[in-house]
Amino acid sequence: MLKDIIELDKKYYMNTFGDRLPVCFERGEGLKLYADNGDVYYDFLGGIAVNALGHSHPEFIAALKRQLDKLIHTSSLYYIENQAKLAQKLVENSCADKAFFCNSGAEANEAAFKLAKIYFYKKGEERYEIISLDHSFHGRTLATVAATGQKHYQDPYRPLTPGFKQVAPNNFEALEAAVTDKTAAIMIELVQGESGVHPMDLEYAEKVRKLCDDKGILLIVDEVQTGMGRLGKLFAHELYGIEPDIFTCAKALGGGVPIGAMCAKAEVAAAFEPGDHGTTFGGNPFATAAGLAVFDIYEKEKLIENCAEVGGYLKDRLAELADKYPDKITEVRGMGLLIGIELIPEIAGDVFKKLFEKKMLTSLCKGITIRIAPPLNITRDEADIFVDTLDAVLAEI
Ligand SMILES: *Cc1c(COP(=O)(O)O)cnc(C)c1O
Repeated sequence: MLKDIIELDKKYYMNTFGDRLPVCFERGEGLKLYADNGDVYYDFLGGIAVNALGHSHPEFIAALKRQLDKLIHTSSLYYIENQAKLAQKLVENSCADKAFFCNSGAEANEAAFKLAKIYFYKKGEERYEIISLDHSFHGRTLATVAATGQKHYQDPYRPLTPGFKQVAPNNFEALEAAVTDKTAAIMIELVQGESGVHPMDLEYAEKVRKLCDDKGILLIVDEVQTGMGRLGKLFAHELYGIEPDIFTCAKALGGGVPIGAMCAKAEVAAAFEPGDHGTTFGGNPFATAAGLAVFDIYEKEKLIENCAEVGGYLKDRLAELADKYPDKITEVRGMGLLIGIELIPEIAGDVFKKLFEKKMLTSLCKGITIRIAPPLNITRDEADIFVDTLDAVLAEI
């Protein structure tokens, strides 16, 4: 019973998540999640951009079971077939030449910082500063918190890891002014997810790339949320027409099995030599089997194309809602199936709550933006369920 689970959680689990939404899911199927009391929910948040295949995708589960019957973990001391093959997938489908696997988005970003620093260390250049953006989100480890431009994540952990600073997003002059001869890398999300789906301008991204080229700075794109097809291309930087020197990905990469990846151009990747970085779990046979199955199903079911198509449709319908409720919806942002619906502050919390009561799972960013990141295989009819429910909620409020 939910009541008992809540009691256990409150007694034994650290209170990092406070009062969670009062529901506990038992199983899922596609877009649907079934609570332990039988209630059915629509998962428009997709486990925060993780469950790109939806829940319990039969082929995905079959691939995981096949791997479980063979091997879960060996060690990085030995060659791992799935690891090599998943690295090949990432490299052959992106601008990167090499990949490294870990277990989360934060860990992938940590690896990116280390690679950027060691790259200049080995060149004999004293460059160690990393510039990122205000309102960004890069993870919860000490270095990624230092890169995350949000006061409430940083303040309790001061003094922060040195060498990190943030500037306003989409403000090229501010970024240019922050660069020094010690700058090793600039790290950006092309669409800031956690803060409420805020895309960078195309022109800004191009200028950042050029600035990095001119000054010999590495460009790191954090694709933890935007990657793996979420925006209607495998990676956001493709949409923006720029090539990062390093990019990171995680969330959807394992379809729910924890895995992260840090990918880089050959010249940069070469700075990592034996012993410079490592991991116990990263890229183990099970996690990389999950990643391979994700790629496989994406290709077979043309999920990235579906994401672009249904995402476009969904955004058009939401734009119509914005026209219908101009005094309630202030903006609809995003691409593909990462969409933010910004509401007036007076009603946003209520809208989020009412959506939940009507069994729509979303997230509320900064108290004003409803974020959705549903599975990439949703249909137009399923997209309609969300829009129609939001329409009903807005009519009531
Ligand atoms: C979620 C997220 C992270 C952190 O990933 P974890 O797996 O929670 O460590 C980093 N960057 C971005 C852009 C994210 O959305």
